Amino acid sequence: MAYNITSQCISCNLCLSVCPTGAVKVVDGQHWIDPELCTNCIGSVYSVPQCKAGCPTCDGCVKQPGDYWEGWFAKYNHVLAKLTNKQDYWERWFNCYSQKFSEQLQKRQQQVLEA
Ligand code: SF4
Ligand code: SF4
Repeated sequence: MAYNITSQCISCNLCLSVCPTGAVKVVDGQHWIDPELCTNCIGSVYSVPQCKAGCPTCDGCVKQPGDYWEGWFAKYNHVLAKLTNKQDYWERWFNCYSQKFSEQLQKRQQQVLEA
């Protein structure tokens, strides 16, 4: 998924100058990222997306979520990280929950087979 410029952008132009693929565009004073050109900086000399890394705002430049749940986790992780300083809380919760659920399911299946 490409990066995306949000309403928090203050038009500092930094991403415009650092993007290695020229994906950042300005139309009528509004910055936006052409998803056809954005490579997430993969394959460039940079190890992190330059628009995100250099953006002076908190969420002026964000990765577009791939699907509903990716977006959901990103949003609530962000809110939770602000409140608790804990990153990836929901992913860890979800992974733990899935593992416990899977263990319980396997136990139950075993009981049914043995009955
Ligand atoms: S992630 Fe990299 S390629 Fe994509 S817009 Fe940002 S700087 Fe450009
Ligand atoms: S670096 Fe951030 S604030 Fe500056 S133009 Fe790009 S998205 Fe907007």
